Amino acid sequence: MPVPDHELTLNGGCNCGSIRYRVDVPELAKRPYHPAKQDIQFPMIATDHCNDCRKATGSVISMWLCVPATMLSVRLRPAPTDTIKTTQDCGSYHPSMTALRENSAESLGSTLRWYVSSPQRTRTFCGHCGTNVTYAIFPLPEGDQQMFEVVLGTLDREDISELRKT
Ligand SMILES: [Zn+2]
Repeated sequence: MPVPDHELTLNGGCNCGSIRYRVDVPELAKRPYHPAKQDIQFPMIATDHCNDCRKATGSVISMWLCVPATMLSVRLRPAPTDTIKTTQDCGSYHPSMTALRENSAESLGSTLRWYVSSPQRTRTFCGHCGTNVTYAIFPLPEGDQQMFEVVLGTLDREDISELRKT
């Protein structure tokens, strides 16, 4: 399931709709390369079957969209007052590098929660519906581009379909 070569926006979020994200993907020629593999550009889709990701996602094989932080933005809202999914507006998008950091100002009052699953490895999830959303390493080695791995299954259905077309 490759990412299409053309410019596109991918949308997704948690199951209750309290956490929403957007990935703004430039055309292929403008995408950064993997630092160790010059035939791979970001964003890329990866599978993982390590014990840590298996437990965190509840999936024997987890799939991730590996995204440079600069392409990812997030909007957050307080927990819904009822138990069903909400279509309420979440407000404006914030850069991932600030909004997804533990106890960020943008996350105050939202359902975004953090779990440090191993040293320097932080996962985010929704405290209302329990959906795992991202994984990130803080800090990365100096000079490396900050990345987030987004749980692929949290993409909206129409955007998963967009990936399947290629
Ligand atoms: Zn949620």
